Amino acid sequence: MASIFTKIVNGEIPCHRVAETDHCLAFLDINPVVPGHVLCIPKQEVDYIFDLPDDLFVELHLFARRVARGLKQVCPCIKIGQAVVGIDVPHVHIHLMPLNKPGDLNFGHHVEMSQEELAALAARIAKAVEQQN
Ligand code: AMP
Repeated sequence: MASIFTKIVNGEIPCHRVAETDHCLAFLDINPVVPGHVLCIPKQEVDYIFDLPDDLFVELHLFARRVARGLKQVCPCIKIGQAVVGIDVPHVHIHLMPLNKPGDLNFGHHVEMSQEELAALAARIAKAVEQQN
């Protein structure tokens, strides 16, 4: 069965998109740990990040870096943190999170954001990512 992220890639379920290339997609996490919590995925459904083919592994990380640069302009923070878990969704995804203190990268904590707030934030991040090289 297709992963929930493949369904997003195929447009079968919605997402708050922030960037897209031929092989990668970035969208806001539906249950954000911090505002601006973004997931970067390869469109190809692979469960485990270290099973990605070399070219896609590199492309995904370069894509995530570009997204992170745009994200940092929109969500003021000390650094954008990066994490890979993949326990809940068996489709490679890199979590990007604006961090202002060590405890911000805490998957046990979540912020409440409405669909309207997520949509508005995604649009701002998308615009900033577009302006990155
Ligand atoms: P993990 O697989 O443990 O890295 O966590 C999966 C992440 O995907 C969690 O942070 C979820 O909130 C997020 N997630 C699950 N379904 C969706 C969805 N439909 N749209 C956006 N994010 C999602």
